[in-house]
Amino acid sequence: MICDFHLHSNRSDGTLGPAELMELAAAQGVGALALTDHDDVSGVPEAQRRGCELGVEVLTGVELSVSEEEARVQMHILGFGVSLEDPRLDELLAVVRARRVARAGEIVDRLRRAGVPLDPALIRELAPAAIGRPHIARALVRAGVCKSAEAAFGRYLRRGAPAFVPSPGVGAREAIEGIHGAGGIAVLAHPPRSGGVDAPGGLESFIWRWLRLGLDGLEVWHPRHSRQQVRKLRRIARRHELVETGGSDFHGETRAGVLPGHLAIGPEVLNGIREALARRH
Ligand code: AMP
Ligand code: MN
Ligand code: MN
Ligand code: MN
Repeated sequence: MICDFHLHSNRSDGTLGPAELMELAAAQGVGALALTDHDDVSGVPEAQRRGCELGVEVLTGVELSVSEEEARVQMHILGFGVSLEDPRLDELLAVVRARRVARAGEIVDRLRRAGVPLDPALIRELAPAAIGRPHIARALVRAGVCKSAEAAFGRYLRRGAPAFVPSPGVGAREAIEGIHGAGGIAVLAHPPRSGGVDAPGGLESFIWRWLRLGLDGLEVWHPRHSRQQVRKLRRIARRHELVETGGSDFHGETRAGVLPGHLAIGPEVLNGIREALARRH
């Protein structure tokens, strides 16, 4: 059975609705997955309903935005197995989404100052509550300003570009406690893409800081990880008795060659997540 524990729907910056995403995942042979939208769990019930009809097991999930050291350190923490009815987690996600809306306004202001007026109505049309840079990138393509979303990031939205505003987030402690409070496990998403590679002391010392806050696992398999990075992450996970997870980080047809089930993650990863969840209960 193929598993995939990192997927986005259009409740955040994916392009497919939760049900459509389940249909594609099933067609790709995925038997168990987690929907992990940025700062939003509203797509999970629809995914679970369609997943049930298709024979795809759907774990609850979220990819929470974390911002530390005045946004110099930004990372994503995946929560798996969280309750969808936990008022504190709900509130935490609502806070991040509200910050996302305010930040999108700042990006639009910066674009205007850079000579690129964007119609807020166009962005509202393209963006859900968990609005992010990909929606603004798509609006720039729709408005004919950029040829592709990738080009929009390169020209305006990446760190260092004229309209860059750091991603909003909560502190790592708040994020991990919020996930634990909702009965879930907290896993550091794509650690090499969280500043860990360049951090003084490297990946392990970067991860060590979050271990002390109760981090449960590492995302070991991700399309952007090199084989060498995967080996290193596995070593670190074993040393600290961390759960190892992985997934496609599928966002729709946005990255050539990446589909649900892309890395053919095996059922042992599902078992690892289940065991870690059982230990928390
Ligand atoms: P945000 O959370 O609003 O800062 O947006 C980050 C999201 O933008 C990531 O989750 C990716 O989906 C996407 N992203 C980041 N960098 C790029 C890039 N260079 N090109 C296209 N999409 C990107
Ligand atoms: Mn994304
Ligand atoms: Mn991420
Ligand atoms: Mn993601």
